[in-house]
Amino acid sequence: MSEYFEHGSLIGVVTTQPLDRVLDYRAPETGCRLGDFVEVPLGPRKVLGVVWGPGRGDWDLSKVRAAFRVLDAPPMTEEMRQFLVRAGQYTLTPLPAMLRLATRAPGLGDPPSMRRVYRRGDGTPPRMTDARARVIAAAEEMGGLALTLKELAETAGVTSSVVKGLVASGAIVEEDSPRDTPFPRLDPEFGQKPLTQDQETAAERLRAGQCSGAYQTVLLRGVTGSGKTEVYLEAVAEALRQNRQALVLLPEIALTSEFLARVEARFGARPAEWHSGVTMTERRRVWRMVAEGHAQMVIGARSALFLPFQRLGLIVVDEEHDTSYKQEDGVLYNARDMAVLRASLSDAQVVLASATPSLESWANAQAGKYDKLTLTSRFGPAVLPRMGAIDMRAEDLPGARWISPSLAGAVRKRMETGEQALLFLNRRGYAPVTLCRACGAQVACDHCDARMVEHRFLKRLVCHQCGESKPVPTACPSCEVDGKMAPVGPGVERLAEEVADLFPEARVAVLSSDLYGTARELKAQIEAIAGGGADIIIGTQLVAKGHNFPNLTLVGVIDADLGLQGSDLRAAERTFQLMRQVAGRAGRAEAPGEALLQTFQPEHPVIRAILGGDEEAFWAAELDERRAAGMPPFGRLAGVILSGSDVAQVFDLGTHLARHDRPLRALGAQVYGPAPAPIARVRGRHRVRLLVKAPKGVALQPALSDWVGGLRLKGDLRLALDIDPQSFF
Ligand code: ADP
Ligand code: ZN
Repeated sequence: MSEYFEHGSLIGVVTTQPLDRVLDYRAPETGCRLGDFVEVPLGPRKVLGVVWGPGRGDWDLSKVRAAFRVLDAPPMTEEMRQFLVRAGQYTLTPLPAMLRLATRAPGLGDPPSMRRVYRRGDGTPPRMTDARARVIAAAEEMGGLALTLKELAETAGVTSSVVKGLVASGAIVEEDSPRDTPFPRLDPEFGQKPLTQDQETAAERLRAGQCSGAYQTVLLRGVTGSGKTEVYLEAVAEALRQNRQALVLLPEIALTSEFLARVEARFGARPAEWHSGVTMTERRRVWRMVAEGHAQMVIGARSALFLPFQRLGLIVVDEEHDTSYKQEDGVLYNARDMAVLRASLSDAQVVLASATPSLESWANAQAGKYDKLTLTSRFGPAVLPRMGAIDMRAEDLPGARWISPSLAGAVRKRMETGEQALLFLNRRGYAPVTLCRACGAQVACDHCDARMVEHRFLKRLVCHQCGESKPVPTACPSCEVDGKMAPVGPGVERLAEEVADLFPEARVAVLSSDLYGTARELKAQIEAIAGGGADIIIGTQLVAKGHNFPNLTLVGVIDADLGLQGSDLRAAERTFQLMRQVAGRAGRAEAPGEALLQTFQPEHPVIRAILGGDEEAFWAAELDERRAAGMPPFGRLAGVILSGSDVAQVFDLGTHLARHDRPLRALGAQVYGPAPAPIARVRGRHRVRLLVKAPKGVALQPALSDWVGGLRLKGDLRLALDIDPQSFF
């Protein structure tokens, strides 16, 4: 079926260059097929492109140039092309930018590169030494498997010249082998666990869906520890049996070696990985093997959605409510929604797994658009933690202290029984504010509309918007009085000081993203804590994400009110999810857990819903409010962020847009703004926001393109459109 273009015929090519058009070329000498990756000339350069169809021929034919060559990679499938087009239309992203997302692997066009490897041969060396014997033994141990020079030398504990010395006699054979090797086969029957009744029912439904070979989205709900992972791995197993590929998306931070080990235990081999920690050569290998069908399963962060799967059967979005699925710069897409789109084009199944689903997914399940599967209890003896509030109005706390006597007492009890306690505070650094006690001025970032946060660990003030930092001043930058600068409010580092005071004998670990250089270090720390390396854990929202601390039985939330303030539409939903997730950390193994929330508003509906554990009631109330306000999922939102160095220019553009809103009004949509964005200045650029609210079911994207399409942006003005904004930066 794949269309073939003979040498010299006109082809239309989409390139990765920011040109909003399919370009005409002539097919290269070898001819080419629809979907082929090609290298084409563009001005003086060679660029990557994909054959998108026949050429349009509306270009001066004498100027049409020939494509250089077809790359040695399987052509892009029809589904994938459809996916890029539709995702681009949805997010209002030009096709070339979408194509860049789909080709994020270096050296795609290179011939399959070879590397020199060494393995045991038949020969015997004329003279045997101890070092030589070690090399031969090491090579024999590898069986037929070949190693690089460095690997073999290291395994044998010798220098590489010893290995080389063995080549002449044929004791060791030197040869070239392709670098991009296939991933080992996964065996769906390898380590299947007996499931509980509840789990088996859910797994059976997923298997049946997978076998049907039709598109389907399933919301898999269940408290942390109920076995959602076990259950969706059964869907993966079924996809493997059907000879289809499976993709499991996780928030980046949850991509741990613990998780990989679990998958290996289930299927007997490691799957492919795709995330920011993967090396460039490995990326290339994963991309190619996925395209060739030699990677059956990929575990990855959101961008794995754009890998060139050939027979995609399943996409799991684990922790589907997680905000990190929304890409916040470049192409603004929500991986959860794009997973559903991609699956619908590939007749694949989507499993959205969460203990605390997003309101959108919950509403889709209620409306019958998604199937719903629920695991009701935790696996094994673990039970849900008891939840309680500590009413801070009744607690006796001196200034600059945040751990109430009640909470401190509860922590002490856990320590006496050798269990772990977690104190949760979603604030990085030492203190959120640095204030001058003489004039009241706060230290702000010079480039952003944000206060600087003291990080004592770094001995600096840091801007959490742009990362700019400076030493903590001794004199006030505003009134110049010396020695009056003081930290105000708690961050995790300051909390650690208080804990050290209260529990001098405790081993304390602070888990905060800025304290670890790399994701790897952080993961190592998490594993050490899980193994019992700390008595008290102090953590930011990092700890809420799917880690398993078997000995943790108490969670104390320092400021449960923190997320309730602010004008964010999703504040209540986020707080609810975060608190439930954090509380879900307690009591995973045999010991029952307890979660205590310090709050000044114990009667707030969100706090009450968390304490009561009445999830259905919370969602229902939240949905009612959204319905009344015409907010998602009952209406649609789009954000427009304008930015530039000249504040007047930015506002003028905003006002112009707001006045010329005819294409939107025609749909019954309203435009709000321009207003300063919640963060009104970042890196010296002023930011202004407009918000578009439209009824559900209207063609919002074409109207938006109409609205902003004709604009000429002067100077350094920039415009970014955000469909379904998640946060209101
Ligand atoms: P969730 O994904 O819902 O948080 P998991 O799938 O991670 O839950 O399960 C929690 C723990 O219970 C894991 O350590 C898992 O290995 C174990 N577990 C769950 N179901 C079973 C089962 N049927 N047999 C053995 N262990 C199980
Ligand atoms: Zn800044």
